[in-house]
Formats: sequence, structure tokens, C-alpha cells
Amino acid sequence: LELVQVRDVTLQYKTPDHLVTATYKVSCTVEQGDRYVILGPSGCGKSTLLKAVGGFIKPVGGTIVVNGREVREPGPDRMMVFQEFEQLMPWKTVLQNVMFPMQATGKYWKSETRERALAAIDKVNLTKFKDVYPHMLSGGMKMRVAIARAMALEPDVLLMDEPFAALDALTRRKMQEELLALWDQLRFTVLFVTHSIEEAIVVGSRILILSPHPGRVRAELEAGDLSYAD
Ligand code: ADP
Ligand code: ADP
Repeated sequence: LELVQVRDVTLQYKTPDHLVTATYKVSCTVEQGDRYVILGPSGCGKSTLLKAVGGFIKPVGGTIVVNGREVREPGPDRMMVFQEFEQLMPWKTVLQNVMFPMQATGKYWKSETRERALAAIDKVNLTKFKDVYPHMLSGGMKMRVAIARAMALEPDVLLMDEPFAALDALTRRKMQEELLALWDQLRFTVLFVTHSIEEAIVVGSRILILSPHPGRVRAELEAGDLSYAD
């Protein structure tokens, strides 16, 4: 099932000094269950493209389609899991954190919100920690809370923008492994942006390589295309 399709998108957005027009000669398709990585050097436009998939920047040309619908604005079908997971609210417990976005949508009854949150927390194996505050958790556990919080809204795709960039090498490695273990269990679809070739190889089932020239594709690879000597 083709979940995300990006076709030659043009984006326009304001920065403090000027209006930017960013064109992407990029055609890509994310299939259900892909760990789709967008890889490229800093400044090649990865983060901007991901924000457009998230609906935070509206295309003025080309199309972004998610699960059959053209993307026009942010929505719970595309949940962004932010860098370092620091967006967890420290004064709320794990359960309260996971309930929060559902409360914000106003779409669910209170009892349903709680049930869905408990189910999502169980899926990421944190039931024992549901009443704990985020500061009491390890980095890996915080990531699982952030993912449970997104998953409770049943998104079509999780969007991750350099989530491990600020971590030391050892912690990053552990977080990558934890993400893969969670994916093995839950098979969500993830669109993941990184500038690290190593990270792309570890995390990706499919890798789109962008050129240093913004908005151009270098290559698209599947994990099986890659071989490297230990
Ligand atoms: P990355 O995430 O790869 O580091 P960003 O998305 O943050 O790159 O973009 C870096 C800069 O380049 C930003 O100022 C952005 O506005 C600009 N930019 C992004 N995409 C394009 C594009 N396709 N064409 C021209 N400029 C772009
Ligand atoms: P990481 O992936 O960051 O190495 P994990 O999330 O795998 O860490 O946690 C490792 C184990 O440590 C967990 O199974 C949990 O039992 C224990 N642990 C971590 N933080 C706490 C805590 N605040 N209280 C109790 N046990 C904890």
C-alpha cells in the first residue's frame, strides 16, 4: 500500500529576511511498513520537505498525498516525533502525556482517551511506568512514550527529524536499536530524516539520498542494495 507520495513539490515560506521558494525535483513513494529514510548533507532541504509532509508548509506546486488525500494542513494522520523527545511535559505522568494530544483533538470521550492511552503504553511495554514522570525515565523509555503518544492517534505515518542528532554515539546506537525493536513489534510506517550515512543504513529499509544541491535526488536504495564489510 502506497502511503505517502511526493511529486515534484514547490514550497513557499517566509523566513525573517525573505520569502523562500524551494523546488524539489523529488518523486518518492513510502509504502506501508517502510522505514523510509531521507538522507543528505546539512542544508539540502530534508527538514523542509518533512515539514511539508507534516502539513506545516503548504505546497504551491506539485503534490504530497498521504493515504489517498492531498496534504493541506497538519493532521493526526501524520504525527511528528520531535528531536530528543524533550516535548514530553515534565509535570505530567506518562499516562497524562500520552492522553494529552487526544484531549487536544476533542474527538474522544474521556474514558476512550484513557483506554487508548493505556493500550498504546502497553504496546511500547511501559505499563509499569504509566504513573511515572518523564524525568524518571531513560532516554529509550522517553522515546517509547513519545511514540506511544503519537500511535494513540493511529497515524498513517510517523515523521522523525534527526531525532538522535544531539546524542553521543553510544546512546544514539542504543536508541536506534530500540526504535528497530519497536518497529519489529508494531510495524508502523516511519519517514525519518538524517544526515548520517551510518544512521540511514542502520534505520532504513529504503533510503532516498538527496544531493547537496537543494531539492535534487541522488539515488534511491533499498536496504538489500547495500552491502558493506564489517
Ligand atoms: P536540512 O534539513 O537538509 O539541513 P533544511 O530543510 O533545513 O535542510 O534547509 C536548509 C536551507 O535551505 C533552509 O534555509 C531552506 O529554506 C533552504 N531550502 C530547503 N529546501 C530548498 C530547496 N529545495 N531549494 C532551495 N532552498 C531550499
Ligand atoms: P535504554 O534503552 O535507554 O538503555 P531502557 O528503556 O531499555 O533503557 O531501560 C533499561 C531498563 O532499566 C528498563 O527495563 C527498566 O526496567 C530500567 N529502568 C530505567 N529507568 C528506570 C527508572 N526510572 N525506574 C526503574 N527502572 C528503570
